[in-house]
Formats: sequence, C-alpha cells, structure tokens
Amino acid sequence: MSEEKKQLITIESGEAEQPFRWSAGTYGSRFLTELRDHKRFVGIRCPKCGKVYVPPRRVCGPCFVELTELVPVSDQGEIITYTVVSFGFVDPATGKQKPVPYGYAVIKLDGADTYLLHYVDETDPAKIKVGARVRAVFEEERHGSMLDIKYFELLER
Ligand SMILES: [Zn+2]
Repeated sequence: MSEEKKQLITIESGEAEQPFRWSAGTYGSRFLTELRDHKRFVGIRCPKCGKVYVPPRRVCGPCFVELTELVPVSDQGEIITYTVVSFGFVDPATGKQKPVPYGYAVIKLDGADTYLLHYVDETDPAKIKVGARVRAVFEEERHGSMLDIKYFELLER
C-alpha cells in the first residue's frame, strides 16, 4: 500500500441515551419520601440484633430475619472517612460532571448502624476530620432522591 492511500479512520459514537426506571422498593420509597416531604431520615431496626439500617431494607443479612420496624434517625452524624475529589468525572446519577473540588464522606447518622455516602461542604482536607460532626442540608426543591440532600455541613470548623 502506498503512503497516499493510508488514512486515519475516526469513529464517533454519537449521542447514546439509555433511559431506564427501577423501583426503589417499599422501604426505599418510604426513605426517599421522608427526605422529599419532611427532610427526615428513617431507618429500620432488626428485631433480633437491634441493628438499624439506613436506608431501610427488607432483611437483616447476618440474622436472616425480615425487618418491619421503621425508626426515626437523626439528620446529624459523624464522618467515618472522607476524601476531597479533585478529578472531575461524570456522575451516573445526573449524567453531569460535578464541579471540582468537592468533599465526599462516609457518614454514620446518629441512631444508625450503617453508613451513607454523600457530599460535604468543605474542600480543605485540613478542615475535615474523621469523627467530625455533620448535619444534612436539603435542597429547596426535592424530588425523592439522595440528591434531595444538598450536602452535609460541618458543625465544627
Ligand atoms: Zn439482625
């Protein structure tokens, strides 16, 4: 093949959309409805071991028993671990890239035995600490999703 016949092939994927829906389930729907309508957190307690799951689920895995006792959980808690994200990526929940930097933490709400992942309103790693107290700040307009929680604010700086 002569040099003149070589060509660079470019392939474009175009716009690929794949809309889909899924059920949040009975307890997941209750959890999201409480966030949307009342800015409250709800968990579910295992009758055998007493563990409180947030968000609520149907079964306690270790005990293998059905869960039915919904319990209120605080909108405050503590940071278990955290990071400051400085490399932007497309959020699969929104399809958009969240502006960097932003704080992201594993949070244990008071009254819960499980953790939530969410944003923190601090981007200076020197100001975020494991064990720091935080409180949920909600969006003005809520739609029944985890993003109804705008972020968790540090209560001590
Ligand atoms: Zn249990």
